[in-house]
Amino acid sequence: MSQSRSSRSQQTRIVHAEDKITPGFDSFSVPVARASTVVFPDLATLRALDWRDDTQWRYGLHATPTSAALTQRLAAIEGGEHALLYPSGLSAISGVYFAFVKSGDDVLIPDNVYSPNRDHGDWLARDFGLSVRYYDPMIGAGIADLIRPETKLIWLEAPGSVTMEVPDTRAITAVAKARGVLTATDNTYSAGLAFKPFELGIDISVQALTKYQSGGSDLLMGAAITANHDLHLKLKAARMRVGIGVSADDCSLVLRSLPSMKVRFEQHDRSALALARWLKTRPEIAAVLHPALPDCPGHEFFARDFSGGAGGLFSVVFDGRYTPAQVDAFCEALELFALGWSWGGAHSLVMPYNIGSMRSAAQWPHAGTLVRFYVGLEDEADLRADIGRALDGLDQQPEIGSVK
Ligand SMILES: *Cc1c(COP(=O)(O)O)cnc(C)c1O
Repeated sequence: MSQSRSSRSQQTRIVHAEDKITPGFDSFSVPVARASTVVFPDLATLRALDWRDDTQWRYGLHATPTSAALTQRLAAIEGGEHALLYPSGLSAISGVYFAFVKSGDDVLIPDNVYSPNRDHGDWLARDFGLSVRYYDPMIGAGIADLIRPETKLIWLEAPGSVTMEVPDTRAITAVAKARGVLTATDNTYSAGLAFKPFELGIDISVQALTKYQSGGSDLLMGAAITANHDLHLKLKAARMRVGIGVSADDCSLVLRSLPSMKVRFEQHDRSALALARWLKTRPEIAAVLHPALPDCPGHEFFARDFSGGAGGLFSVVFDGRYTPAQVDAFCEALELFALGWSWGGAHSLVMPYNIGSMRSAAQWPHAGTLVRFYVGLEDEADLRADIGRALDGLDQQPEIGSVK
């Protein structure tokens, strides 16, 4: 005989509440399903669970209805079938390493890669018995000469998000497929909107959802997206073992921003391209590295493989007559471009880079300092005026090097 509910104490009835919620409520938002424990109707159901089945609920760490809505939409954006969420873009990168390489394996990484990926690779090489080698991002089919029997994974990034070379993705994936080597791309730059990795033969696409998908500069999340179920399961197994997941609250913030992502991306693209074209006319600037402009290395592959724009990111190289200190002062003189990492939000950002410290194999052809701009959603004319004013100030600064 079960105890009648009304005889239980008030405290118990609060914990085991009998909420009477009228069914049938519908809205446009995805409910936030917070959970550690997932409750099963009986033990037979619990014992029959199969971790491979994405339609089963198991534990809040692995998936919730909120995260499932997000993964399905992310896969759809890129033309994939499956997606897994990670607490940051970098953790999605690390998830790919955990799933697919072990000691004794060899990994090829483009020399212009997102630098924490490079640091991750160096760490694996130093402490975990992997071999990690860097290749010239413009290598194309020449990657064939670098592949060894132990080579298990080739990273790509189109373009490298600081120096902006666009690789010949098709040539690299064709060689990798023929040699049975997995390919993974960091597709954060295009948000999955402008570059469709699976159509180009890539196996795994990594996103930092921290960027355009969030759009708010207010959360961190990453994703690993695949079109192949076996690859998805390998990623999923590694992710379960490492014990990482994401909060339903953060998923709901990303879900809220996704519908406006394409419109934002296109607006970032228009403003960034206009500013890049204008900067090419400025005598202070030696080179503009924007994949949609013909003098960016790999522009032809951008034209072939991208549709829908380049978004808000591009770099410039200052004329070699300006010292790094002068370029720093230029960056600090900007009022609408903040100094800070990351991108994808409404606010414009600027960052000077020391390319010498970032690259090993490839020859960097420029003498001056590289500055990366992230063009936010401010009015383009105001951004142009801000940059123009800071450029005008450049020649008025004392040349630090000449001060005795
Ligand atoms: C920001 C970024 C990442 C990492 O994302 P986090 O969420 O900040 O860890 C990875 N790749 C690229 C190209 C990025 O710009």
